[in-house]
Amino acid sequence: MSGRSRVLVSACLLGAEVRHHGGSARVESDVLKRWRDDERIVGVCPEVAGGLPSPRPPAEIRGARVISKEGRDVTREFRAGADQAVAIARELGIRVAVLKSRSPSCGIGQIYDGTFSGRLVPGMGVTASALEAAGVQVFDEFHLAEADAALLALDSDEGLGPGA
Ligand code: SF4
Repeated sequence: MSGRSRVLVSACLLGAEVRHHGGSARVESDVLKRWRDDERIVGVCPEVAGGLPSPRPPAEIRGARVISKEGRDVTREFRAGADQAVAIARELGIRVAVLKSRSPSCGIGQIYDGTFSGRLVPGMGVTASALEAAGVQVFDEFHLAEADAALLALDSDEGLGPGA
């Protein structure tokens, strides 16, 4: 254990085959590699943690509910996964997360509109929203540099800056 601030990362971005289609969304980046080497990363897939299998039908947020493409209400599973992500963040003192864009769980700023037509609307995924409400700074995979800066700022706050 390094003692450096940890970061919560969507498991699919790390290569875990947990997406609705059964694959991953692996991202290769120097930032992630460094975080891995520093043992900062805690991976989580909220949908699987909430009890959904992989593969599974895609789901989208519709109003206050989350509905699968087959018409099943999966709100309870999505909320359970979000609760687990928040619990992990609290337990480990995690204050930065990098989450998969556009996902109904992990999306930040943009999600699909609930009609399965591919149209995006402003919004947050269920887990992203819950983490943000819990005080975690959330970033998507296109903002790894910003997430890295936030993490290093936390290290400095705690006297764990470079060389610590
Ligand atoms: Fe990836 Fe999040 Fe979807 Fe899991 S819930 S597959 S971590 S985007």
